[in-house]
Amino acid sequence: MTTEQKDRIAEMRRQGCTYAKIAETLSISENTIKTYCRRTRLNEDNLKAALVCKLCGNPIEVKDKHRARQFCSDKCRAAWWYANRGNKPRTEYHLTCANCGKPFVSAGNKARKYCSHKCYIAARFGDGGHE
Ligand SMILES: [Zn+2]
Ligand SMILES: [Zn+2]
Repeated sequence: MTTEQKDRIAEMRRQGCTYAKIAETLSISENTIKTYCRRTRLNEDNLKAALVCKLCGNPIEVKDKHRARQFCSDKCRAAWWYANRGNKPRTEYHLTCANCGKPFVSAGNKARKYCSHKCYIAARFGDGGHE
């Protein structure tokens, strides 16, 4: 196996490809790949632990174990959000608040009744309010 093939195996495993799929793609026998993965510990547990960027597939450096990161950099995160926002633009609904009567804009939700959480609480629990 060449270094390039080894890199490809690791990469494809991280992307969730099966041994069969990798074998087919790289024209290497499935058993060779299985053995290689076992030896290099590219097994399921390791793959789960190895986070990769949702956009570019680069491994993510995990600094804070409690907060899972999805992107390798701020640049990738911004690009991903930009791309996904472009896919489904949200309709803006111009509505009138059922509590204060002021017009407000709701993105993607036609059923919104109040301009703010404050108005929702006021309408629901009465103006005097329970603090
Ligand atoms: Zn990235
Ligand atoms: Zn309101």
